[in-house]
Amino acid sequence: MLYDTIAAISTAMAPAGIGIVRVSGEDSIPLVSGIFRPKGKKPLSAAGSHTLQYGHVVDPMSGRIIDEVLVSVMKGPNSFTAENVVEINSHGGILVLRKVLELVLGQGARLAEPGEFTKRAFLNGRIELSQAEAIMDVINAKTERALQLSVRQLEGRLGEKTARFKDILLSLIAHIEASIDYPEYDIEELAVETVMDRLEALKGDMQALVETFDQGRMLKEGINTAIVGKPNVGKSSLLNALLQEQRAIVTEIPGTTRDTLEEVVNIQGIPLRLVDTAGIRDTEDHVERIGIERSLGALQKADLVLFMVDGSRPLEEGDRAIVERIKDKKVIVLLNKMDLEVKASQKELRELLTDHPVVPVSAKNREGIGLLEHHIKEMFFHGEIENTEEQEVLLSNVRHKNAVVQAVGSLDHVMEAIRAGMPEDCWSIDLKNAYERIGEITGESIKEDLMGQIFSQFCLGK
Ligand code: GDP
Ligand code: ZN
Repeated sequence: MLYDTIAAISTAMAPAGIGIVRVSGEDSIPLVSGIFRPKGKKPLSAAGSHTLQYGHVVDPMSGRIIDEVLVSVMKGPNSFTAENVVEINSHGGILVLRKVLELVLGQGARLAEPGEFTKRAFLNGRIELSQAEAIMDVINAKTERALQLSVRQLEGRLGEKTARFKDILLSLIAHIEASIDYPEYDIEELAVETVMDRLEALKGDMQALVETFDQGRMLKEGINTAIVGKPNVGKSSLLNALLQEQRAIVTEIPGTTRDTLEEVVNIQGIPLRLVDTAGIRDTEDHVERIGIERSLGALQKADLVLFMVDGSRPLEEGDRAIVERIKDKKVIVLLNKMDLEVKASQKELRELLTDHPVVPVSAKNREGIGLLEHHIKEMFFHGEIENTEEQEVLLSNVRHKNAVVQAVGSLDHVMEAIRAGMPEDCWSIDLKNAYERIGEITGESIKEDLMGQIFSQFCLGK
């Protein structure tokens, strides 16, 4: 299928050493020829695939030289979009890049929508939908681990897994349709048992995949972490201690409201998304302003609660009140100010929060942070994060997870129908449903609107 020729600035917009205007589509080569004056005699149209041409971008109206550039030509199907792709590597100034893009558009290209190059790659069959999404994840990765996870998805590992699910479903569907279409073979009795066995096994595999989602999401997006505790126990000091250690790799993500700011710190490869309230930024006079109530919002969506008590004082009603709110969460109790004499009863803490680790720290002296990190790793990755590379695929995209959950639901329907003695043609409807849902992951049965939604999340020029 042929699409129109699109163009966009594909590099970051900040002034940089180099910037790229990417052009993709059937007419990309003649189109760029209209504004490119090669240094040698050979015109761009005569350039071989995967070559670099040196020359100048010239405004065809005025004849004025805009920039000195390198133009790469990658002919389809061996290009990012599987179409003819021309990339103009110019000097990175924003004005220059805009001018080059403007000239390309003047030659008849259309400005690409966000994610449209990647969408082309998918539409042209070069990548699966899950791979397209992985490209976005690779761009956004905040830690090495998140990057690894995305790269693995980009390699098509998830696609392989779902292909196996689909094979099994397809063979079941075929099996059932055969027994409907050829009743003379009388395979019904055997078929029911076989079908049930295979469905159970398949459902188990799918559920196991669904269960990887929490880990996958946390590796990719971070563990939502709330630091709670009475005023003055040392929450801000802990935050500062965590941030200081990570200063170089800390990213700031503006929250949904102006007042919230999320800080992401990298704990041995796990991004910890410290979700707190305005108090995170406002260390001045938060003591009065930030009470327990303030932290409740952050508590709601927290995967992990760091409950801090002042170890140098006996426990108070204020501490016990917080315990009531966090009992059902994953909690690590931080017994802060361990540099001072311990007055808080560890015994009472352990009784209040049974089975939750109590870690003595000194936020001020940055002691005990390593032990805290160890507990976090233990709690969320069973300490095994080093091996995620060896591990099977982790789901990290909520769309993928929902698709598998729905497929599991369809399998349940099939099994109910079988148990209820419903005829075979009833089973195959739900089996086909399951097949469809799984197919959505790689995009085989994806609907147009869903696709549009996914690609619109991409940044421009990708
Ligand atoms: P928050 O209200 O819970 O955020 O507490 P802050 O981080 O603002 O700390 C309150 C007071 O406790 C400050 O004076 C800190 O210097 C002090 N503090 C925090 N952590 C420690 C610690 O580990 N040891 C000691 N001795 N003092 C600490
Ligand atoms: Zn504070």
